[in-house]
Amino acid sequence: MVNTEVPPLDGIVAGGRVIDPRHGLDAVCDIGVRDGRVAALAPQLSRMSGVWVRDATGAVVVPGLIDLHTHVYWKATSYGVDPDRIARRSLVSTLVDAGSAGAGNYAGLKDFVMAGATPRMLAFLNISFPGIFAFDRGLMVGEANRLDLLDVGRCVEVAQRHADTVVGIKVRLGGPVSGDIGLPALDRALAAAEAARLPLMCHVGQAPPSYAEIVDRLRPGDILTHCFRPSPNGPVDDRRRVLPALRRARERGVRFDLGHGFGSFGFESAEAAIADGFLPDTVSSDVHALSVDGPAFDLLHSINKLLNSGVSLIDLVRMATVEPARAMRRPELGHLGVGAPADLALLRVAEVPLRFTDATGATRDGVQLLKPLGMLRAGCWYDAEPRPWELPRERGRP
Ligand SMILES: [Zn+2]
Repeated sequence: MVNTEVPPLDGIVAGGRVIDPRHGLDAVCDIGVRDGRVAALAPQLSRMSGVWVRDATGAVVVPGLIDLHTHVYWKATSYGVDPDRIARRSLVSTLVDAGSAGAGNYAGLKDFVMAGATPRMLAFLNISFPGIFAFDRGLMVGEANRLDLLDVGRCVEVAQRHADTVVGIKVRLGGPVSGDIGLPALDRALAAAEAARLPLMCHVGQAPPSYAEIVDRLRPGDILTHCFRPSPNGPVDDRRRVLPALRRARERGVRFDLGHGFGSFGFESAEAAIADGFLPDTVSSDVHALSVDGPAFDLLHSINKLLNSGVSLIDLVRMATVEPARAMRRPELGHLGVGAPADLALLRVAEVPLRFTDATGATRDGVQLLKPLGMLRAGCWYDAEPRPWELPRERGRP
């Protein structure tokens, strides 16, 4: 069947298996693109002369991936990574910086990094005035351990001034990050989020405060990141059951984000929570200079870990497209409806033995891999960059 009821197109991504969870779509079809937007979807679109065609036969085509938790204040923070490199390696159309900048330095993130980046960039604004300013190997001076840095008024003012790119407020809690302050730091961040009418993303670290104390305070729409952090202070009890506070929070509408990072994803926590029926709402990498070469690597690697832990492909696409869009209240993103930005990722499902490592050094052998082919970002094609750690190797070799 040739569909001729469509406007003139610039190009067609042809014949891929298109998965768009927001529209309940999982079918082989063509996607027509015009002026950087999705213009048509049909089993077969007519190939007019002058229209580019990218053959996606055998590929999985998904809405442009959204990484809800990254650190990409490149060159202005010690742990920031290059957003272009990360986006092309992992086929991420939208990178969300999670609190690298605070009210005191947000304009630099916007003008010096976001403005020139290939991916769309958005951010959670740190409640702490300088953002995360001293995080490196062997160095951690917390940004939330002094109340005078947690200025609600300044945070709200900057969030409102940059409402085009600020999608929420960020706070990190636990260990040296919040020091002796603990929960009052969360209360300040909640006050800022409430005044700015934005969601709060809250990082759970070492206790105190405990995981339960934190999620009990979160509001509907707020996001708990590092949801599968290793114990102690993980998501499950010693019987490997999800803590009642997490279930209460989910019922209230609190969202749970993976946020793999350097120390925040444990297979034992993830496997126990998944076995107890508790999946994350969103999957994200928490990629930064200390996690970009492992154990997190990037969003696609985190997705592959969950794929090999038994989470379905469709659930994973949902967690990296429509759900992060909802978490940010950006419903125009994360789907392939007509009129949506022509951001999409082409992947290939391969049977490749690969050993995965979590933040504790525990390993699991995987057999299935989503391999990146390339992406459209606002209608322009980018080939995927190489991922050397995913080359096949003999099973059993370290
Ligand atoms: Zn982070």
